[in-house]
Amino acid sequence: MNIIRIIKSLLSNSNLGNTSLEEGMLLLEDAKCPYCHSNFEKPLSRKKACPVCRQDVFVRTLPFKNEKDRIRVAVTEQKAKNIDIAWAKEKGAYDEMQTRWTSRA
Ligand SMILES: [Zn+2]
Repeated sequence: MNIIRIIKSLLSNSNLGNTSLEEGMLLLEDAKCPYCHSNFEKPLSRKKACPVCRQDVFVRTLPFKNEKDRIRVAVTEQKAKNIDIAWAKEKGAYDEMQTRWTSRA
């Protein structure tokens, strides 16, 4: 699965609302839980457990080529891993990233 291609195709789909990129991924400024869609009091600035469903919500920046395309999202743990992998592939440092992820868990 190429997450970058998926994200780009989703973003270019004019029928899509601006609140849901895909399941488990929401724009950070929407300030909603990607698991249960509860509203947060304010957008997250870092990883935080949802006060409603108690699951960890991760903050990530989607891979971008230009700074103006930078998109910050609130995502589930699985999506956060996917984005980390996409970033690592962008940087050509996939192996290094895998080590970092497993040691961080
Ligand atoms: Zn929640």
